[in-house]
Amino acid sequence: MRLNLGSIIHKPGGSLPFLFSMDLSEMEFFGEYPVTEPVTVSGTVKNRADVLTLEGDVKGILHLSCDRCAKGFSATKTVPLHFVLAKELAGDEEDEIVLLDGDEVDVRELAFTAFVLEMDTKNLCSEDCKGLCPGCGVNLNEEACRCKPAVDPRWAALQQLVDQPE
Ligand SMILES: [Zn+2]
Ligand SMILES: [Zn+2]
Repeated sequence: MRLNLGSIIHKPGGSLPFLFSMDLSEMEFFGEYPVTEPVTVSGTVKNRADVLTLEGDVKGILHLSCDRCAKGFSATKTVPLHFVLAKELAGDEEDEIVLLDGDEVDVRELAFTAFVLEMDTKNLCSEDCKGLCPGCGVNLNEEACRCKPAVDPRWAALQQLVDQPE
């Protein structure tokens, strides 16, 4: 989505809102296609004393598999957008400034890049997911591990003796 800033580029105080959706369903992450529904990009470009700033966010729902327990889960992802736009570079702040193409800025490209860069490398259904037991393979969030045999009460008594401090 290209936004033409011609109407505010020389108008301090001017602002131009944007709102559109982006289809990322073809995007592959971690061997999956987690963005099945379109993501929403919204925000505003403002001319503040002849400095153009773009503020907004990208919002979407990810459908992922947990890295620990392999269960599918959904998570809302919001990535903030903060950019300074300029017709030409001045000074050494080149990294933070987005150059305009004529009077236009490609908001879709900015939003797309920001969203992709913010994809987590680790996906957990919850922070304290217990995962799968490497022995018996049960999902430890849902079931107790089955690989430890029940402790024989006689053995437990012996163990207590061993553990006693001298
Ligand atoms: Zn999990
Ligand atoms: Zn187990």
